[in-house]
Amino acid sequence: MQHTVTPVGIVRSCFKEKFAIPRQPQLAPAARAVLELLPPFDQGDAVAGLEQVSHVWLLFLFHQALEDKPRLKVRPPRLGGNKSMGVFATRATHRPNGIGQSVVRLEGVEAGRLLLSGVDLLDGTPVLDIKPYVPYADSLSEATNTMASAAPPAIAVHWSDSALPQAREHALRLQQPLVELIEQCLAQDPRPAYQVPPAERVYGVKLWDVQVRWHYPHPEQIRVLEVVAAD
Ligand code: SAM
Repeated sequence: MQHTVTPVGIVRSCFKEKFAIPRQPQLAPAARAVLELLPPFDQGDAVAGLEQVSHVWLLFLFHQALEDKPRLKVRPPRLGGNKSMGVFATRATHRPNGIGQSVVRLEGVEAGRLLLSGVDLLDGTPVLDIKPYVPYADSLSEATNTMASAAPPAIAVHWSDSALPQAREHALRLQQPLVELIEQCLAQDPRPAYQVPPAERVYGVKLWDVQVRWHYPHPEQIRVLEVVAAD
């Protein structure tokens, strides 16, 4: 049987590129997004009752990782990118049907819009369905996963004298927790696995409408160099 799925909404998020997005939701609580619902779901009826719920599951399309040829094995970045695993043993983005799932915090419910935080979703991500998180069924204290038993260790994030005031200024303008967002995302250490960065190499990413640049004075330490308006 063939069935067509159609997005119910589109995510407008702080993440404008894939680089530096946390590998799972909740790792950056300051990562905010608005889910704009599409007709006919852009009315109060579709979200009535959702104000009783703290978190929702989003089922979405990895729209920037879609592939024609299915992969059986993938190399998850979490395992250093040099060990391959069955696609169904991982949460890799390259997967059959390109479907992702994330539990995110529901900050607000409006007709046609859901306000979200703790997202790991690229701006423009099409959402296929939204379901309330059900703690008694979805939170399993006995569950194990020896491949991913805990959140990845965070690395230290420091600021240059000029970068912190720059970030605070943009945070005020954007009315967003930008300082926290930068610290939480960079603490996940976005550099490719096993890349030992020379101290002079500068990395960058766009968050909201600002460009964040940093370097690694030591392999396990980040120093934010500047936070400036993106081109
Ligand atoms: N929580 C989801 C899951 O388990 O299905 C996503 C996990 S996946 C490992 C997270 C990564 O997906 C992020 O770090 C980001 O780079 C990437 N990503 C997020 N939204 C995407 C999109 N719309 N298209 C392609 N890649 C995306």
